[in-house]
Amino acid sequence: SAISVSDLEKLQVLGHGNGGTVYKVRHKRTHDVYALKVVHADSDPTLRRQVFREMEILRRTDSPHVVRCHSIFEKPCGDIAILMEYMNLGSLDSLLKTHGTFSEPKLADVARQVLDGLNYLHGHKIIHRDLKPSNLLVNDAMEVKIADFGVSKIMCRTLDACNSYVGTCAYMSPERFDPDTYGGNYNGYAGDIWSLGLTLLELYLGHFPFLPPGQRPDWAALMCAICFGEPPSLPEQASEEFRSFVQCCLQKESSKRWTAAQLLTHPFVCKDQR
Ligand code: ADP
Ligand code: MG
Repeated sequence: SAISVSDLEKLQVLGHGNGGTVYKVRHKRTHDVYALKVVHADSDPTLRRQVFREMEILRRTDSPHVVRCHSIFEKPCGDIAILMEYMNLGSLDSLLKTHGTFSEPKLADVARQVLDGLNYLHGHKIIHRDLKPSNLLVNDAMEVKIADFGVSKIMCRTLDACNSYVGTCAYMSPERFDPDTYGGNYNGYAGDIWSLGLTLLELYLGHFPFLPPGQRPDWAALMCAICFGEPPSLPEQASEEFRSFVQCCLQKESSKRWTAAQLLTHPFVCKDQR
């Protein structure tokens, strides 16, 4: 039967973000636990559009590696709430902080699951556009799922519309800043692959790859590094397969980057699969 907001009790705050708060909630009768993302979108039309896009995407997706949405509530006051499955180990970003850097076998497992989710999304013409550790959620079954479709794009008519400036700058690919130089046959999907490469690198190194540990980002310098510098790469001690995989993701020229489907056949994610 349908769940209504009054059936739910708030247990704690899981995270804050752009205009919204994510709560851990419990169904009063069944005691099932969920995550509830509440956005106060009454006054801000941009935010409102974002939440509706996220709702639309979550409604149409059905993949084991995309966070599941159970229902959507709209209050008369303008608040919108999305009821999702609860991912009890939180984000990869918080796991990095609490447990330290990830081993290669763990990262191969993360990569395989995220690629499966991306392959699904791209096959359904959805570009995530904000892939990063804090938007990848984990549960104690060690399932990794893609979340937060606030700035995602459904490719329906025009291709160039996906060029708008959204997402977290730091994880944005060179062609997002400079499509003329790095665009090639720019299709937008490759931007998610760049972000995946940076994410894996960050989880291995323990800090954002374009910045030394602990340094706060200077956005102009960061944008220069992304567009004019060499793409970051793994240190010598990493395995051949892992280094090659990251290289396939972090090609500056977007048309040279592997697709999610191609990367699923890469030895890094194929070998010693348990
Ligand atoms: P924002 O647009 O504010 O970044 P997110 O959807 O990324 O919103 O959620 C913010 C944070 O809340 C996440 O980084 C994560 O820590 C937590 N969170 C979000 N959804 C869930 C969920 N389904 N289960 C557990 N934690 C979640
Ligand atoms: Mg987020």
